Amino acid sequence: MDGARQWRTRAARYSLLGAYCGRCDKPEFPPRPRCPRCGHETTEFAFSGRGTVYSYSVVRQGPDGFADQVPYVVALVALEEGPLLAAQLTDVEPGELRIGQPVEMVTRRLRDDGPQGTVLYSYKFRPPRGWQTAPSG
Ligand SMILES: [Zn+2]
Repeated sequence: MDGARQWRTRAARYSLLGAYCGRCDKPEFPPRPRCPRCGHETTEFAFSGRGTVYSYSVVRQGPDGFADQVPYVVALVALEEGPLLAAQLTDVEPGELRIGQPVEMVTRRLRDDGPQGTVLYSYKFRPPRGWQTAPSG
């Protein structure tokens, strides 16, 4: 079990974990213990972390803990496996964004949580390296 446990920990930190329903043959995000469509038990599913921008908005006034990050972009990302999820984009200027923009997941520090000193890590999405330039072949 140690190997599996280690894999789970690594997967949770470095990939986007969802759930998969074998009966519907569909992945879900966020993960749920049971399929929202048919109620069947789900299994863990690691998304590729690749997707496209489905829609987005620019946040210019951040809530506590995010104020030093404005402006930032929150997008609905359509994962290549199907589900949509909301996530902050990084490494992109709001003016450069387009609907349908390819993005990939990165793990970033999300915020410092004051008194407890807790640092939360979460996923963000960014354009893949080199997306602005035409493929060189
Ligand atoms: Zn199902």
